Amino acid sequence: MSEYGFDTKRIHAGYNPKEHFNSVNYPIYQTAAFDLDSVDHARELWTGEASGGIYSRVGNPTVAILEERIRELDGGAAAVAVSSGMTAISFVALLLGQGGGNFVTASSLYGAAQEAFTHFYPKYGITAKFVENRDDISEYEKLIDDNTKAIYLESISNPNIEVYDFEKIAQVAHKHGVPLVIDNTIATPYLFRPFEHGADIIVYSATKGISGHGNTIAGLVVEKGGFTYSKERFPQFHEKSWKIRDLQDQPRTPLEAAPDAPVVLSLKAFYMEFFGANLGSFDAYLALQGISTLSERLSKQVASTKQIVEFLEQQPEVAWVRHPFAKDSKYKELAEKYFPKGAGAILSFGLNGSKEQLKQVVSALKVFSHHVNIGDVRSLVAYPAATTHTELTPDIHKLAGIEQNQLRLSIGLEDVNDLIADLRQALDQVYHN
Ligand SMILES: *Cc1c(COP(=O)(O)O)cnc(C)c1O
Repeated sequence: MSEYGFDTKRIHAGYNPKEHFNSVNYPIYQTAAFDLDSVDHARELWTGEASGGIYSRVGNPTVAILEERIRELDGGAAAVAVSSGMTAISFVALLLGQGGGNFVTASSLYGAAQEAFTHFYPKYGITAKFVENRDDISEYEKLIDDNTKAIYLESISNPNIEVYDFEKIAQVAHKHGVPLVIDNTIATPYLFRPFEHGADIIVYSATKGISGHGNTIAGLVVEKGGFTYSKERFPQFHEKSWKIRDLQDQPRTPLEAAPDAPVVLSLKAFYMEFFGANLGSFDAYLALQGISTLSERLSKQVASTKQIVEFLEQQPEVAWVRHPFAKDSKYKELAEKYFPKGAGAILSFGLNGSKEQLKQVVSALKVFSHHVNIGDVRSLVAYPAATTHTELTPDIHKLAGIEQNQLRLSIGLEDVNDLIADLRQALDQVYHN
């Protein structure tokens, strides 16, 4: 598949009808377990000598199509699907930080990830060091120490659509023997290809733009391969385990079992096995269905976002607009370099006037729905300070740049003129009545 273009891969990668009863569409393997045939064959399956189904917590053919498709789209060595984006993030944090360690990150993360790094992962010995000036590369470097396990960033931050200089940040990480982990949820592989800009691991919430229809919760971890995990910093990839033994029954380390994909191998062999949190086959099917139209959806959403940014900038009730498309965005140059197809379909804006007026604007919108799932075919509005980022304390709001007068929009696939008219009628109703 690797010789084909993106749009061919997102429809065909990972699926060969001949392996599935010639079914043109991918089957949903709705089964807990698979027939093991003989006792000898069972042993071959367990040791990896033969490939095939055992039990859907540790592998399912529908889920495997999704894993292979995303691996191809991102150009990685291996991928694993999990039950949600937060599972993907938590598994990577727990695995890289196994036994304790810290992550250098930005305080502009998805609300639950931010909260987990701040208050929850520390209960497991995993802490975060937050870069305050996220545009200053030297700040990332200053925070790296002997116990740092990764730099962790989002490719497009939410709700402020910050864009970072990924290649420079990757250089700093690699100089210190630390991998760069990117949450590429909002960009999707269509808008941003993290491995081409220095990332080593990608995490996704496939709930958002990847599936795109607001009908499933899903997550993915993709590994590029080729990163050198030192024994001092990452002993977990150098420990021999009977569970991943070779065909001669010799225990192996994750790096011996999968030199190019110790992260995905460890997640599959230990995390899926012991924590579970596998993706269901129907949910994998929905994510695959969504990926089939990824390019068309994202390109229309990005085009509509541009028009809406331009519209909002001209409205007297709007104090400011944040998106790299905005006139005064400081991220224009970086966005052009890293996101030539556009930096996503989420934007936020500040309203002049009172909080009461802001609440009324949310209620007055008719086409935009008020909910918190982004990257959906439906356009939506949210008030981050009271919803998606409400778990965060006021000082983190300040660091993350969440304002009290800020609304966030995720632009869907409706007629853009209807979306613009909806915004205008809501402003009219509240400000000119
Ligand atoms: C939604 C989201 C997540 C969490 O994903 P779930 O599938 O809801 O668990 C993580 N990162 C980003 C950027 C998100 O938008």
